[in-house]
Amino acid sequence: MTIDLRSDTVTKPSQAMRDFMAHAPVGDDVFDEDPMVHQLQNEVAILLGKEAALYCPSGCMTNQLAVNIQTQPGDEVILETDAHIFNYETTAASFLSRVQLNPVKAKSKGILSVDIIEDAIREPAYYMPVSRLIIIENTHNRAGGTIYTIEKVKELSDFAHSKGILIHLDGARLWNACAATGTSPKEYAQYFDTVSVCFSKGLGAPVGSAICGSKENITKARRMRKIWGGGMRQAGIIAAGALYALRNNRDRLKEDNAKARRFAEIVAKNAKNATIDLDSVETNIVLLELTEKNPIIPKYLSDLSAKGVRLSQGKRTSLRAVAHLDVTMDECEKAAYIVSEYLS
Ligand SMILES: *Cc1c(COP(=O)(O)O)cnc(C)c1O
Repeated sequence: MTIDLRSDTVTKPSQAMRDFMAHAPVGDDVFDEDPMVHQLQNEVAILLGKEAALYCPSGCMTNQLAVNIQTQPGDEVILETDAHIFNYETTAASFLSRVQLNPVKAKSKGILSVDIIEDAIREPAYYMPVSRLIIIENTHNRAGGTIYTIEKVKELSDFAHSKGILIHLDGARLWNACAATGTSPKEYAQYFDTVSVCFSKGLGAPVGSAICGSKENITKARRMRKIWGGGMRQAGIIAAGALYALRNNRDRLKEDNAKARRFAEIVAKNAKNATIDLDSVETNIVLLELTEKNPIIPKYLSDLSAKGVRLSQGKRTSLRAVAHLDVTMDECEKAAYIVSEYLS
């Protein structure tokens, strides 16, 4: 049996989730008549303390909608060098919204601070870009699932708004940050103009993300989603999976964080040819930095796969393991010993 730790996106809908989906009442959501989509949008908006929410096919779309509705062509968006929006969404922001991304490197763990952002903000001048939007990612995927504390978020948000700059949260794994810190989604969300959250990662739904914000912003997002071909008809079938996930699978994310920690501790202790910064293992993601100089990552991945453990690539010289609801603590331990042995 393979233990698949490539990503928390590999989870499959449980029988209970499938039953809930099978019985979901549906309608045509392009006519704004799908009761399940309405219910999901209402519940997620309430959970985040926002006026409205829009269910979308992917987190890429919700992030790109946030960029599109809060910028003008020619504006600049400030974000961290390792941000998902900069690395894993092709060139969507420039392609779709004609903005320039201005990536800045965080001092540690991918977590931005006011001084770093301050340096990136442009002076008002007709020959300079306009700094319009700041994006932060919580948890920070490519940095290894690291967390912004609520204090940090407040500082950044207050600073952004004092400069007349909007701020978006890429909260694909906001739920994991909430599970680890005890901070509620609403407490985090209050500091952002728009928030994107995902149902198909740790929560285990098959499809979708939501963008949340003011009624005005969500009305704009809805129109742009249609322009981009994202209007869905009887979307209630998949929205039901997302709703089930939202209601039932948030609290248990603590377990995923614990499984990742256990995996990390075993590998850190036993693997000779990789290092793990245990201090950065704050949620469900573990980065294994290989000691080999120019590792051929695909070889590592295929060797491990043959031994029954699937990992993914982290950065250029690291492997990544992600805990999720379809692997048990025992499986994570077993995987950790297999990985340790292979990397020794
Ligand atoms: C996965 C992810 C997304 C995009 O989600 P998709 O649904 O795969 O498009 C956005 N941001 C972060 C931080 C992610 O990890």
